[in-house]
Amino acid sequence: MGQCPICQYPLNEYHEPGDRDVYIFDCKKCGKYSITGTASVMLSRFTEKRARELMFLSSTVRHNQGMQISSEHLRHLDEIREPSFGERAEQLLNYFSSAHPRVGEYISILDRMRMESALTALNNQGYDDLTADNQSRIDLILPLLAVSWSENADELEYLIREYLYREMGYLSLEDDQSIQARISPHGWDVINQHLPGNPQSDIAFVAMWFDDQLAPIFETAIKPGIIDAGYRPIRIDQHEHINRIDDEIIALLRKSRFVVADFTGQRGGVYFESGFALGLGLPVFWICNDPSEASEELHFDVNHYNFIFWKKDRLDILRAALTRRIEAELGKGPR
Ligand SMILES: [Zn+2]
Repeated sequence: MGQCPICQYPLNEYHEPGDRDVYIFDCKKCGKYSITGTASVMLSRFTEKRARELMFLSSTVRHNQGMQISSEHLRHLDEIREPSFGERAEQLLNYFSSAHPRVGEYISILDRMRMESALTALNNQGYDDLTADNQSRIDLILPLLAVSWSENADELEYLIREYLYREMGYLSLEDDQSIQARISPHGWDVINQHLPGNPQSDIAFVAMWFDDQLAPIFETAIKPGIIDAGYRPIRIDQHEHINRIDDEIIALLRKSRFVVADFTGQRGGVYFESGFALGLGLPVFWICNDPSEASEELHFDVNHYNFIFWKKDRLDILRAALTRRIEAELGKGPR
């Protein structure tokens, strides 16, 4: 069946491009994705030095099933942010809960030795010559590696046994050696609290200073950037309402898929809205006028986020960067 051009692991399915010049893959590790002709040529020229970036791309694809990889994505691979350790464990827990949604259902978690021997056998023999046992182990392990951004069985085992089981108590095991786990009552509580906000929504809430100077930023960069990613930009001053503005803002935030926050002008409202969005578990995309053009510094609470900085005369760059970042984090939107 061949190898995945991203992770080199075996494929379940592969389709040659039709008239749209797009290759379609179903990889045992990355899952389903497509890739344009140009991107596929670029990818084939990547050397070993890009291995870590490709590992992150594999995880990004696993979390955004069906995404289409363009040469634009590959040119900005170094922008993929590696989640924190806690986020990785939580993504793994969420994956377990969606693959095993019934309370009390058993989850195979294997152990490091079984995982490593299956991965070694895969390296040496290729998938088709593996024993049936090893094939099913590989089918189990590879998606977990991608979901948890893990490089190897060591990391995966550490996340499952040390973090989710011993430290946090989100999994329960009969005993320490068990290769079957169940999500604990505490784990279910956490999953239910942390359900990501509004996965079906197409609304992108735009938080920014409503100053005439900034109107072109919205019209020529933020708005089309969001639309290109497949979502619907809404700015509260353009949204007709009769309620008090703050009630309206909160109601709209609760219905949104994510927030784009422009901190130019350092408005209190922008800090409030992005903070509220973080509290709801919504992704926030941070943008601001380039420090070389801005008069004030960002507040210390937000300056560690990964900002897109824009320049007045290069709004096309902001537009493309915003689209790319939204698509990388959330996948193409429904519109
Ligand atoms: Zn792959």
